[in-house]
Amino acid sequence: MAGRPLPLVPHWIAGGPWEGSPTSSGPVFDPAIGVVTKEVAFASAEVVDAAVVTAAKAQMVWAAASLAERTRVVFGFRQLLAERAAELAEIITSENGKVLVDARGEVARGLEVVEFACGIPQLSKGSFSEGVSSRLDVYSIRQPLGVVTIVSPFNFPAMVPCWFFPIAIATGNATVLKPSEKDPSAANWLARLWAEAGLPAGVFTVVHGDGAAVEQLVDHPEVKAISFVGSTPVARLVYERAARAGKRVQALGGAKNHMVVLPDADLDLAADAAVSAGFGSAGERCMAVSVVVAVGDVGDRLVAKMTERIGTLVVGDGRGAADMGPLVTQDHRDRVAGYLDVGVGAGATLVVDGRAVAATGDPGGFWLGPSLFDHVTPDMALYTDEIFGPVLSVVRVGSYEEALQLVNRNPYGNGTAIFTNDGGAARRFQSEVEVGMVGINVPIPVPAASYSFGGWKSSLFGDTHAYGADGVRFFTRTKVVTSRWLDPSHGGLNLGFPQPD
Ligand code: NAD
Repeated sequence: MAGRPLPLVPHWIAGGPWEGSPTSSGPVFDPAIGVVTKEVAFASAEVVDAAVVTAAKAQMVWAAASLAERTRVVFGFRQLLAERAAELAEIITSENGKVLVDARGEVARGLEVVEFACGIPQLSKGSFSEGVSSRLDVYSIRQPLGVVTIVSPFNFPAMVPCWFFPIAIATGNATVLKPSEKDPSAANWLARLWAEAGLPAGVFTVVHGDGAAVEQLVDHPEVKAISFVGSTPVARLVYERAARAGKRVQALGGAKNHMVVLPDADLDLAADAAVSAGFGSAGERCMAVSVVVAVGDVGDRLVAKMTERIGTLVVGDGRGAADMGPLVTQDHRDRVAGYLDVGVGAGATLVVDGRAVAATGDPGGFWLGPSLFDHVTPDMALYTDEIFGPVLSVVRVGSYEEALQLVNRNPYGNGTAIFTNDGGAARRFQSEVEVGMVGINVPIPVPAASYSFGGWKSSLFGDTHAYGADGVRFFTRTKVVTSRWLDPSHGGLNLGFPQPD
């Protein structure tokens, strides 16, 4: 017997849900019950083209709106988002699986960037120099790029898009967001909110799909810039494809974040931090701690304290009283669980086995409890691969120098942290470590919105980080005007190269 058709998550084009029937679609799960609850439309080449062309027309009108008008709309959006954050958090939990308090945190960090973008009149000011040469003034202005594309990963369906679109829109661009096909509904919810805030139709568009839709967006001649966030192999592909087409691109990739614990550290603080940052969001965070580097003799005591804390964690449905939710899909859960056998086979000590977890939720959920490995070495897959799940590795080293060398030799450079009470050691670390975001006794050092977010090495391709001043630079191009208003003394031919006079 045919069941009722599942609800469809449609594209959002020209200010509303796209009414056509998609030629293909993908399943959207509720990971806490392991059931497909929706289908998401996948865009064909025609749909991508229609979305971008509509966005391009809308952008011309939006770019001509005054800064005052644009700021009013962004303020309105900020107000609505702050009032209705809980609604968005529920959507995130129902498709991503992270616990509600974590989903609310994600929305709060996204809101921070919206608030930053409310300052766009100040942030996008140009400069003016009077009289750089006789009667000659020079000034610079910042102008929007046109249509810009944002491609986001599954683990932050609201926050990562919010890293980009508030600034892109405030500076006069139209944005086409291609969210992860695994948790697509947050994007449509945000689109509806923009419409309520008074953003003209077409300035915020959502196109759903997989890698094929991304390639079409990157190739579309009307798309002028791409902000990508996802895994390193895909980030590299998108970066290379966009750069070949001469487009502006920033592509943020994966991570393997080390937390270094020096012998003088407060081990209770360090154990709390490692467990929180390792298993929050089930380890599905690009800033998650995945390697704890125990320096000197702290290994035994630190592992004991971490083990004790892991034992208190409740794994379950994020809508209930759980600390950690399920993984996003069954495939991902099985891939992550596969590392437990791989780690044991390679000779690491499995201190806590997450497969034994008793989750407080539906047995069909994609459950995997927190796992802890000790005596991991840098040649093991546990160390070299981005696992992106609740598997934390402890690597033991003899000295600060060895710890630093380990972090700096790793191909990723997203985030890192040092735990110590020695200010001199922390100061050396912040200077010597080759990583884009550093925490000192702070395990997840995601920069505030007035700074910029971005890693080094294989964690970011391109030269501009997300949000903050870099965001304003990325979404605008500067034009410099040299002007001389004539006065009665002007005149005379001069074929030489202009020189100051
Ligand atoms: P992913 O790379 O599989 O997908 C990211 C996006 O790219 C999705 O929208 C997806 O549809 C699209 N995509 C997939 N294959 C593609 C292809 N071949 N060509 C073009 N686009 C394609 O990543 P994910 O599994 O959704 O997210 C997890 C990854 O994202 C992890 O590696 C994590 O570290 C990373 N991440 C990084 C940051 C950061 O700031 N550096 C932030 C969040 C997540």
